[in-house]
Amino acid sequence: MQSTPIVKDLVLVGGGHSHVEVIRRFAMRPLPGVRLTVVARDVHTTYSGMLPGLVAGHYSFDDTHIDLGPLVHRAGGRLYHDNAIAIDPEAKTVSCLNRPPISYDLLSLDIGSSQDTSVQGAAEFAIQVKPVSNFTLRWAEAEKRILASTTPQRVGFVGGGAGSIELLFAIRHRLLKLTAYANRKDIKLSFQLITASDRLLPGYNKRVQKKFEQLLRSAGVELNLCERVVKVQEGLVVSESGKSIDLDHLFWVTEASAPAWLNETGLKLNANGFILVRDTLQSVSHPNIFASGDIAAVVEYPRPKSGVFAVRQGPPLKENLCRSITGQPLRSFKPQRQSLSLISIGDRYAIGSRGPFTLGGRWVWRWKDWIDRRFMKKYRELPEMLSAATTETPIYSADITQHDLQTDPMRCGGCGSKIGDNVLRAALGTLKQRSYNDVIIGLDEPDDAAVIKSKPGTVLVQTVDSFRAFIDDPYVFGQISANHCLSDIFAMGATPQTALAIVTLPLASPKVMRNDLVQLMSGAIEVFDAVDTAVVGGHTNEGQELALGFAVNGYIDYELLKRKGGAQAGDRLILTKPLGTGVLFAGAMRGRAQSRWIEAALHAMRQSNAPAAQCIREHASNALTDVTGFGLFGHLLEMLRSTNNTATVALDRVALFDGARSLADEGILSSLQSTNLEIEGSIDASSIEQDNSIYSLCFDPQTSGGLLAAVPEPNAEACVSKLRELGYAQTADIGSVNHSSNTPSEMIIMLS
Ligand SMILES: Cc1cc2nc3c(=O)[nH]c(=O)nc-3n(C[C@H](O)[C@H](O)[C@H](O)COP(=O)(O)OP(=O)(O)OC[C@H]3O[C@@H](n4cnc5c(N)ncnc54)[C@H](O)[C@@H]3O)c2cc1C
Repeated sequence: MQSTPIVKDLVLVGGGHSHVEVIRRFAMRPLPGVRLTVVARDVHTTYSGMLPGLVAGHYSFDDTHIDLGPLVHRAGGRLYHDNAIAIDPEAKTVSCLNRPPISYDLLSLDIGSSQDTSVQGAAEFAIQVKPVSNFTLRWAEAEKRILASTTPQRVGFVGGGAGSIELLFAIRHRLLKLTAYANRKDIKLSFQLITASDRLLPGYNKRVQKKFEQLLRSAGVELNLCERVVKVQEGLVVSESGKSIDLDHLFWVTEASAPAWLNETGLKLNANGFILVRDTLQSVSHPNIFASGDIAAVVEYPRPKSGVFAVRQGPPLKENLCRSITGQPLRSFKPQRQSLSLISIGDRYAIGSRGPFTLGGRWVWRWKDWIDRRFMKKYRELPEMLSAATTETPIYSADITQHDLQTDPMRCGGCGSKIGDNVLRAALGTLKQRSYNDVIIGLDEPDDAAVIKSKPGTVLVQTVDSFRAFIDDPYVFGQISANHCLSDIFAMGATPQTALAIVTLPLASPKVMRNDLVQLMSGAIEVFDAVDTAVVGGHTNEGQELALGFAVNGYIDYELLKRKGGAQAGDRLILTKPLGTGVLFAGAMRGRAQSRWIEAALHAMRQSNAPAAQCIREHASNALTDVTGFGLFGHLLEMLRSTNNTATVALDRVALFDGARSLADEGILSSLQSTNLEIEGSIDASSIEQDNSIYSLCFDPQTSGGLLAAVPEPNAEACVSKLRELGYAQTADIGSVNHSSNTPSEMIIMLS
């Protein structure tokens, strides 16, 4: 935990090749008082050098991707999985697709480049290699289509650079291997390479160019030089010379282009739309914005767009970001003029060149493989952080005041720990919430208490929950906390009406606290608004860690109340979401959970239980509860406790989040697990192996978990399929309720 109050926000947009090194260096040597926030469209960064090897089938996804989650976590930063779409340098904010604008003191962009698809039809009919996450999906679809085809398959590549040629060889290698493996020699494959240039690999020495021309021709690739593609249609490309080439699959690997939204930022760009930076990597027009990698154009040292240069810019970028934020002079960085280029040609063979030198062979591929794996290892096996003694010097620069540093050695408790009125007012003034007719006095005109109209003829349903943040993204945490707190209301069959927030914010400068509060509450209000619930007030304290909870009020016609205790013998047990959030976030804290597992869990945790509850009611459920802190078995036991029934659960039907089982197998469990296991005496586990990890995940505490319902057997199948249709894709019938003459203290859950 950071002991120095946060006074500066450093925001990195894009997890590209320079930024991963910046983050790694922050992990080794943090700058106390500076908070790192990484906004990334993809939480796994593709290492470009290994992308062709992934396509060729030599590497797995994990071999070729840097997982930003553990890296950012280790640096004590926050990872926002989002897409930046605008920058306002005056307001010092970055706008993203899915959240309120993010404030920064210092901003750095390493967002890479994409292909220029301004050619008519290219965006629609060609597969672009960037963004890589889209490319891998579309390539997988193309691969499937090719293998299922019964006619000759013509595959084309537009672009004559290293990326295009390497990709062509990789795809050719993969397809030849797969068709041979599937004994589908009848699939006739042909390959075309189309480039506007009169030679391949412009910028490389003549020997390399010739070598690749020979290699491509001897691989049967038809070369179309001096053909500038001007139009793409389904199954066809047309060039400026009037030549048309029929193709079944087209890959677009042309020169790099920059996103159009940069034009609106006011940043000085070059003629091609890339950000002009000095040799310090600082924008020529905006001193508190830096850029590196493909998206940057260094005025003093123009270089080709290449991962090598992006990687090399990482260390000087980290140094200059730290220098800038602490008010020191920046250092110039002169990139090397030439770099070693190693181009693989599908079958574990590579050609290397640097300036006039060229070499090739299988050993070159093995050498490249060694270099690439060594590079990736740096981001997987992180060195220890330097000791606090060497890092714990808070930053001081001219614009940081004692008020920002909140240096009072004896901060008050009681009402003295409340957040300052100015912070609160500024944050509340930014929040956007719908207006609600039921609210007489609410957040828009705060008073000592909120005043709400009651619903005649109904009873009031109340619930409260609150917990510490388990993720570093306050906006997403706000969404999950709201969803979690609403679930109790839905489980009772009630309609939520209002909510009161209980917030704890960690100590930071007033500006940072205001920004955090805006992100947190915007996420929550979005969820509450979606279910017509007004946030009418709350209480905000300062404390050690970010925490959020809500007291939610709802209403219901008393006759329609759904209790958890009405399960009938013969009912089927239906569970609407997978299990494993406790284990996954315990894994994330230890840097052991993959970001894609976390993303899938966060997605499910943000899914409202409201439609599920309604669907379950419509299928005449006898009992309903939400699965949260006590885990599946704890809540099932609560369901059965007031009845004479037992339950049988088929463990193999219980859905688990990806990664939960492997973490549990590693022995990583939630800290609440041992408490939840105290009910084990009520479970007959004699039919299963002792170390069954699904069994232990049934005690895993869930945050914003799914619903558990007892539904009459004749309705169960329809209920499950309707729930799946509603988007609860992993809903499962996990067992049944059985009649028993046991008393409640005896065994009541059996496993099969
Ligand atoms: C097939 C192929 C093979 C290649 N092989 C090599 C090679 O062997 N060696 C080499 O040096 N170069 C290679 N290159 C070039 C290389 O891919 C790029 O030069 C390199 O990736 C640039 O790195 P970067 O850090 O600028 O951006 P990237 O690596 O592209 O990273 C940018 C990151 O920013 C994120 N991002 C983008 N937009 C946004 C946004 N709006 N908001 C938030 N996040 C965003 C993306 O998710 C991405 O992870 C190859 C290119 C191709 C196409």
